[in-house]
Amino acid sequence: MNQDWIDYRSDTVTRPSTAMLEYMLHAKVGDDVFGEDITTNELENRMATLFNKEAGLFCPSGTMSNQIAIKVHTQPGDEIICDTLSHIYQYEGGGIAFNSGCSVKLVNGDRGRITAEQVLTAINPTDIHKPNTSLVSLENTANRGGGSCYHLTDIQQIKEACIKNNLKLHLDGARIFNALIAQQQKPEQYGNEFDSISICLSKGLGTPAGSVLVGNKEFIYKARRIRKVFGGGMRQTGYLAAAGIYAIENNIERLQEDHHHAQQITHALLQKKFIGNIFPVETNIIIFELKDIYTAASFVAKMKEQGILMIAISPTQVRMVLHLDISEEMVQKTIRTIQSL
Ligand SMILES: *Cc1c(COP(=O)(O)O)cnc(C)c1O
Repeated sequence: MNQDWIDYRSDTVTRPSTAMLEYMLHAKVGDDVFGEDITTNELENRMATLFNKEAGLFCPSGTMSNQIAIKVHTQPGDEIICDTLSHIYQYEGGGIAFNSGCSVKLVNGDRGRITAEQVLTAINPTDIHKPNTSLVSLENTANRGGGSCYHLTDIQQIKEACIKNNLKLHLDGARIFNALIAQQQKPEQYGNEFDSISICLSKGLGTPAGSVLVGNKEFIYKARRIRKVFGGGMRQTGYLAAAGIYAIENNIERLQEDHHHAQQITHALLQKKFIGNIFPVETNIIIFELKDIYTAASFVAKMKEQGILMIAISPTQVRMVLHLDISEEMVQKTIRTIQSL
């Protein structure tokens, strides 16, 4: 991709900064399958400590860390409760069925967020005809919900429902730090509610690759075995883990800037007659509808002529994602371009 594009297609398009690359270059590495990569061990421990969990596991992608968690928490034939829009159901290639042999009970939440009441209704009764419900998976922020955030009290109620019904609770926290920054919450508040959390390093945090799965020691021991089975046991991962450590130290607080940029662009969009409904913008994602003179595709094409990239996620909806490679100057150029239409 041309380096001059202003690229809002995803927060995965970021490139490591010179400072991050410098930090990676000096990482102490070893064979991580032998447990000898001290930088990877350090990242796993730091992420686990942040979330008040016993242990962590570095994984190649967020998809793999979600799929590992699902595999550890379930038996073939079990059923998983999640929102209809959730990444684990929509965008992981049917991995729930493929990897774990489980079915899914979909719940229509509010912009990707479900409630304890909906969870309770979705649990199957103890009956040999019914799949055994064993896991609830939440997503925060909810990607297809436009970066929406859960309220902690709603999560606590879901946790209670899970405990009462002997269900595990997993969090797809690909963008958990966006939620924590927006809600001014602490990672340990989340760690206390979930049995496992998957955290992406290659989204807002800006590393080239990787995800960390956190949980208790027994869970991570099993997860390490499943990671090997899935082919995700890698060797000198310390270079990538170093990028993760650099990101924890330097790229979390600044997510606030991305949220601020999202608000500025939303304000410009709101002035235009051809913009329909805009999902409430809570973090770094803007999902808006086009009407009158534009379809989603024609608007995306028009912006591309100006060097600005975004994605049509349906015939009428466009998604823009803010990230650390989008500068204030780029935001101002985008706003001027929107105003000129
Ligand atoms: C990006 C993302 C993932 C993981 O994606 P990978 O590309 O496999 O790292 C998981 N869940 C959500 C909500 C995501 O946005």
